[in-house]
Amino acid sequence: MSIAENLAKINGLIRQYAKARKVQLLAVSKTKPIEAILQAHKAGQCAFGENYVQEGVEKITFCQEQGIELEWHFIGPLQSNKTKLVAEYFDWCQTVSREKIAQRLNDQRHPYQAPLNVLIQINISDEESKSGIRASDVWPLAEFILRQPRLKLRGLMAIPKATDNVLEQQEAFKQMHELFIALQKAFPQAPIDTLSMGMSDDMQTAIDQGSTMVRIGSAIFGARDYA
Ligand SMILES: *Cc1c(COP(=O)(O)O)cnc(C)c1O
Repeated sequence: MSIAENLAKINGLIRQYAKARKVQLLAVSKTKPIEAILQAHKAGQCAFGENYVQEGVEKITFCQEQGIELEWHFIGPLQSNKTKLVAEYFDWCQTVSREKIAQRLNDQRHPYQAPLNVLIQINISDEESKSGIRASDVWPLAEFILRQPRLKLRGLMAIPKATDNVLEQQEAFKQMHELFIALQKAFPQAPIDTLSMGMSDDMQTAIDQGSTMVRIGSAIFGARDYA
């Protein structure tokens, strides 16, 4: 199937699973060539996610030079020596989990740019992974981000541990949704509207449990080749 056909299929499934709710589709284009992004764009897709700073910056620069306006989300692990490029090139950073990173993103975002949209990454089920913070640590970091003028806290992101156990999957997504609602309640004046969870293999469960943004790679672009 072509990228356009895959996108049509995924969009149909999202509508079916989300019922009357609005769930955004982020097309995860990491490792895929610019041609794949252009095909998806031609089929109506406007928001793309990249995991590697340098690769993302190259694609963003190409599109800017061609006058193609897309929305770019950084969704990979972020080291402090790469924050400047994310602050300068991306529209969103979904993987903020430390004050130091948030501070640098704020300081490196230009005043003439719109504030950088930020999600806090939560380590919801995989204690061993170093990506994300524990749910209980979200409060001070949220307060810190809300004090940064060049950042806009939009919500939470998680990558639950891959598992075949649907109940375990549901539980992780459910905990994320509860934390998201608590965050909205704690900061009612903040524009917290995004719960980013669900990938190609667990999209339905994530949407059932309240996801507002799914991040889909292989189901749109095909399997990735890391060779
Ligand atoms: C690669 C990646 C995805 C997409 O995964 P698929 O299984 O290909 O849909 C989503 N989110 C993050 C953070 C990723 O790194």
